[in-house]
Amino acid sequence: MKLKMKPVVDDLKPYEPGKPIEVVKEELGLDSVIKMASNENPHGSSQVVQKQLEQAGTPNLYPDGHARELRQAVAHYLQVEDGQLLFGAGSDEVILLLCRAMLSAQTNTVMATPTFSQYKQNAAVEGARIIEVPLKDGVHDLDAMADCIDDDTRIMWVCNPNNPSGTYVDASDFSAFMKRVPSDVLVVMDEAYGEYVEADDYPNSLEMLNTYENLLILRTFSKMYGLAGLRIGYAVGAESFISKLEPLRPPFNTTTLAQKAAIAALDDQGFVHDCREKNLREKKKLEVFFKDNRCFPYPSEANFLLVDVGINGDRVFDALLHRGIIVRSGEALGFPNCIRVSIGTEKENEQFMASFAEWIQAQNG
Ligand SMILES: *Cc1c(COP(=O)(O)O)cnc(C)c1O
Repeated sequence: MKLKMKPVVDDLKPYEPGKPIEVVKEELGLDSVIKMASNENPHGSSQVVQKQLEQAGTPNLYPDGHARELRQAVAHYLQVEDGQLLFGAGSDEVILLLCRAMLSAQTNTVMATPTFSQYKQNAAVEGARIIEVPLKDGVHDLDAMADCIDDDTRIMWVCNPNNPSGTYVDASDFSAFMKRVPSDVLVVMDEAYGEYVEADDYPNSLEMLNTYENLLILRTFSKMYGLAGLRIGYAVGAESFISKLEPLRPPFNTTTLAQKAAIAALDDQGFVHDCREKNLREKKKLEVFFKDNRCFPYPSEANFLLVDVGINGDRVFDALLHRGIIVRSGEALGFPNCIRVSIGTEKENEQFMASFAEWIQAQNG
């Protein structure tokens, strides 16, 4: 007997995460390995979070499915209503819920390519037609994306800054885009790296929620707040829309621990500020380093750099892996001649630069 899957499920490939440190140590017999592959916060998380985790409390009890306390904290922080928030086990889960709620075989969804893989993955499971619009100079081509909208379009995805390119769409382009999108088509603005952005003309999407009920913002505690392992993220949008999604949410989708940690993390904006400064300083160092070595980073507003290395990224990935440094090859990310490097601590970046330089010398020698 053969179990009958949805046809599309037979064709799906599992998400390829950055290689775990322990696996690389074992496979290559290395003592020390650093991971610069998954855009996590290399500075850990706030000490306030660490304290919360130690006193975690009641694992025998179900979490508050409504995440009341966290909901109030985030609503207060963003200056929105409690009912405008939907929490998920990472923003990944919110993406899944959106696709489940809105997409079917009779619909289509529009996204950039390359962009964050989970939009396509989840849309595919629902059987929706996926319309992919190539980035223009590494940036979302919002005009071309809007041109694709028809009566069957349900969701437009704008990853801002974009993973894996690190680039962003600015306020005026995004406003013009929102004006073009019909009010019955949802625009998802994924701001997973929003806390890292320095650009003055980055869109104020929260403010735009007042004008556009078809706008939804995704945020996460996984990146800047350093809680990737706890799985917590959220959507902010119009209360009328959020309340329709709420019944689709698994009743206890975020854990007590994650909720407590997120409240503590949000409360420590000093940590966020500190990490943003460090990221900026280290990003500049790495950019100079790459250019000196005739490799070309895309301009990044995030905590990673997509770098054109001039040859297949798999080769650079392998060379660095053997030197104990895990990055992502651009091959699987849609940029075959690139690597994507998460910006590490000062020490990690120095180790990275030393290994990279050593590899370049070996090539030239
Ligand atoms: C990391 C990431 C997410 C998902 O983060 P969660 O850990 O699921 O909250 C969402 N979007 C983008 C663009 C990301 O890079």
